[in-house]
Amino acid sequence: MMELKMYIDGKWCNSVSEEKREVKNPANGERLAIVAEGSTEDAKCAISVARRTFNSGIWSQLPFKTRAKYLHKIADLLEEEADDLAMLETLNNGKMLLAAKTDVQNAIECFRYYASLITQPEGELYNVGDSVQTIVTREPIGVCSLIVPWNFPLLMASWQIAPALAAGNTFILKPSEVTPITAVKLFEIIEKAGVPAGVANLVMGAGNSVGSEMVESKLVDKVAFIGGTKTGQNIMRVAAEQTKKITLELGGKSPNIVFADNDIEIAVDNALFNLFFNSGQVCTAASRLLIEESIHDQFVERLIERARKIVVGQGNNPKSEMGPLVSEEHMQKVLNYIEIGKKEGATLACGGNRIVGNGYEDGFFVEPTIFTNTRPDMRIVQEEIFGPVLVIQKFKDEEEAINLANDTVFGLAGSVFCQDMEKAMRVVRQIQAGITWVNCYHVATIQAPWGGYKQSGVGRGLGMFGLDEFSEKKQINISYKAKPVGWFSN
Ligand code: NAD
Repeated sequence: MMELKMYIDGKWCNSVSEEKREVKNPANGERLAIVAEGSTEDAKCAISVARRTFNSGIWSQLPFKTRAKYLHKIADLLEEEADDLAMLETLNNGKMLLAAKTDVQNAIECFRYYASLITQPEGELYNVGDSVQTIVTREPIGVCSLIVPWNFPLLMASWQIAPALAAGNTFILKPSEVTPITAVKLFEIIEKAGVPAGVANLVMGAGNSVGSEMVESKLVDKVAFIGGTKTGQNIMRVAAEQTKKITLELGGKSPNIVFADNDIEIAVDNALFNLFFNSGQVCTAASRLLIEESIHDQFVERLIERARKIVVGQGNNPKSEMGPLVSEEHMQKVLNYIEIGKKEGATLACGGNRIVGNGYEDGFFVEPTIFTNTRPDMRIVQEEIFGPVLVIQKFKDEEEAINLANDTVFGLAGSVFCQDMEKAMRVVRQIQAGITWVNCYHVATIQAPWGGYKQSGVGRGLGMFGLDEFSEKKQINISYKAKPVGWFSN
């Protein structure tokens, strides 16, 4: 049984209250770890440490090459421990081991990418006039609160930590209450890499205590949040009072538009992956499938046939294709949405139940579920379910496809499957979303900006944009020699 502590000022510690939280394997309900449960007081302590450390300049003033070395070292150590980390992620989150391995590789790439980015030429120079120049340079923001969800625990933490560190900030990370294990392991690596004490701090605990303090504290300069839209909206409200910098990467209800000119087998195969991957617990999951009328019935029939064959099981069983939901609470939320869909009059065409019985005891498994005959105003069409529940919509032509695709408050992701590339590009350009795909899905490029339109977020993570989000831009105007201004005559 693992006993996991928080990491504040370079020391491993329990919370001030000595409270603990049990962390379970969602595939079988077994206890995996006992984890220190922080409170507001612990968050305050970590924040003041991060503030003092930032002000000392021990990290922000380091030459960029030295900071880059630390990031590469973290990537090296992640590589060494990749298999163990992937297994822990699978046990804690429930995801397929292969997916967890991909997450670890993506995290490694992220640290290496930001290490290399800060060794590139930076800034701007303007020759304003005779012996006057303006230079534009990047500086760290200061103390950053990084708050992450449970669906990609190590990866989401890495997507925030790598650019925050690269830009020269100090930070406090709060993982989700249900999936803190790989975050603790990542901090062991950060310690091993020799990152100075106080730069990186880890506090576990609830959103409404630790999380709130990380947003409200006047000692925090920036909040980078990945999670649900409602939580993001609350954070934005609180941050507004201090005009605090924020980045919000929030939820979605992303459309996958399938035109009639596709090879049906291939398009069905993709549609299944686009939603059921990670049990639908992906912010960009294609949870709405928009099918052109002329192929709708044939497509749905084949889709259901294939969905029924998805092998649901434990993530560390190589035969499994889809795992459990992350917690009992989340499973209940998903099952409740299925009930809502039925009451709203949609047709439950496949699945819809918790999976119980031999091999599934005490796990939080839900069948791959498909709703047809939906209306755009239904809650199951408009709201993020975040589980293995696919909602099908039918369209007549290109215009209707685009209108339906954009008809939610979200704007995170979307895709077009169409073999006429001219049409595919015309349509994808009109999808109001920050992350889009044509004839593919779930390709996440570390170098490209990640984020949403509309209520799916504010700002962008990853790429150069991700570094900018953790930086202030400063213009320095220089005259080589002070001269009289001549404005006032006396
Ligand atoms: P959540 O909003 O419930 O929680 C996210 C984090 O915020 C957790 O660490 C939680 O403890 C913390 N939190 C909760 N209340 C808080 C508060 N009042 N103040 C500060 N922090 C608080 O989300 P979740 O259920 O953990 O994750 C699922 C959501 O995350 C989905 O909506 C999904 O779409 C979204 N997500 C978005 C992206 C993206 O890149 N856009 C990526 C992954 C997940």
